[in-house]
Amino acid sequence: MKKKRIVILGAGYGGLRTLKKLQELRPNAEIVIINKNDYHYETTSLHEVAAGTTEAQKICYPVSCVIDPDQTTFIQDTVVRVDRKEKQVILQKGVPVSYDYLLIGLGFESESFGIQGIREYALAISDIPSVERIRRHIENQFARWKEDHKEERLTIVVGGAGFTSFEFLGELTHRLPALIHRYHILKHQVRIICIESSPDVLPMFDRTLANYGTSKLKRRGVRFVVGRVNRVMPNHVYYKNGDELKVIQTGTFVWSGGVRGSSVIEASGFRQQRGRVRVKADLTVPGNPDILIIGDCSAVIDPESGSPYPTTAQIAMQQADCAAYNLKALVDGNPLKPFVYKWKGTVCSLGRNDAMGQVMGKNLKGYPASIMKKVIDNRSLVKIGGVETMLRKGMFGFTR
Ligand SMILES: Cc1cc2nc3c(=O)[nH]c(=O)nc-3n(C[C@H](O)[C@H](O)[C@H](O)COP(=O)(O)OP(=O)(O)OC[C@H]3O[C@@H](n4cnc5c(N)ncnc54)[C@H](O)[C@@H]3O)c2cc1C
Repeated sequence: MKKKRIVILGAGYGGLRTLKKLQELRPNAEIVIINKNDYHYETTSLHEVAAGTTEAQKICYPVSCVIDPDQTTFIQDTVVRVDRKEKQVILQKGVPVSYDYLLIGLGFESESFGIQGIREYALAISDIPSVERIRRHIENQFARWKEDHKEERLTIVVGGAGFTSFEFLGELTHRLPALIHRYHILKHQVRIICIESSPDVLPMFDRTLANYGTSKLKRRGVRFVVGRVNRVMPNHVYYKNGDELKVIQTGTFVWSGGVRGSSVIEASGFRQQRGRVRVKADLTVPGNPDILIIGDCSAVIDPESGSPYPTTAQIAMQQADCAAYNLKALVDGNPLKPFVYKWKGTVCSLGRNDAMGQVMGKNLKGYPASIMKKVIDNRSLVKIGGVETMLRKGMFGFTR
């Protein structure tokens, strides 16, 4: 009898961890993994590349590090959509790939919320090319300021004051001294502004931690502005505070106001909200028992709050362990198990040697929190890429 085929879409935290666990379980099936790049990147470190404090290669490693060629075939291509009727994955370049069981882990895209000009003129932290663009763009603006002295070249505006914005601002303020030195600029000439519609920044943290983060960034020169981004144009960002429309002239606008699941979800006709499918307890799609969705493309409801859990690498990796078990169970015709989320804490970096967060019910700030952040990042490298990858790509700058 022909072996069943399991197809995994995406080699991010969810997809690659599923592959690793599934290979360990050795299902009686052919495994195929499809990803647009031949490398995995640590999404949780993208802001460092954007700010220019880390090189892109440091946060990437080959997908092949995880592949067992006896069990798995890798296809490098971009997924366009899933044809559920024909049980096929439609690719940008290659022929359609048929599946018996499918796991979708295609991650997130920046959400524009329909704001005019975001797609055209804003920069976003979403993948390796996008963050390399941000780094180049900022350096280019600073270099050009030397020629024309236009103020907006030294003005960087970040839209949104959530987790990613704070991590990016933390790195950027850390990089700034080197930048101003390189381009012979005075510190006070550079303006970094963060626009947020709600006066409460970082809603996932308690107020003590959020205030710690905000005051740290303020001390490093970040100005926080309350307002709703209304329109983005070349060199201008418009925002509304109440009924008043205000404008900031800026050469760099980084939009970090929200994310949505991959557009492949919508293109495939799944019942979804902002690219996220509300999956069943066993991570399968209602009405499609042969398809599992995990990570940022999935919505799992927190029984306590009744709302979906926030999309994080932490939940994607925990879902992956359950998904690997369930894919093997599907092949074997065994019952699937439900996914149970165990929140282990959240740590937000504020640049090298500074962070804040909650781990095992305790608030952590400053240097100890930054150590914890590195430990968490190294742990996810081990959990997917293995010890060797962690030793090559891990964070070991533990000195103050
Ligand atoms: C700057 C930043 C910092 C963060 N910090 C944290 C943190 O500290 N802790 C935490 O838990 N979470 C953090 N997150 C959130 C976390 O990174 C995501 O929730 C997590 O990456 C989701 O995992 P995933 O497997 O769904 O997708 P991803 O890890 O993003 O992987 C998706 C994969 O699919 C591939 N792909 C996408 N579209 C296609 C396509 N059409 N065809 C083929 N391949 C495709 C991508 O190239 C990628 O390899 C952070 C996110 C950002 C942006």
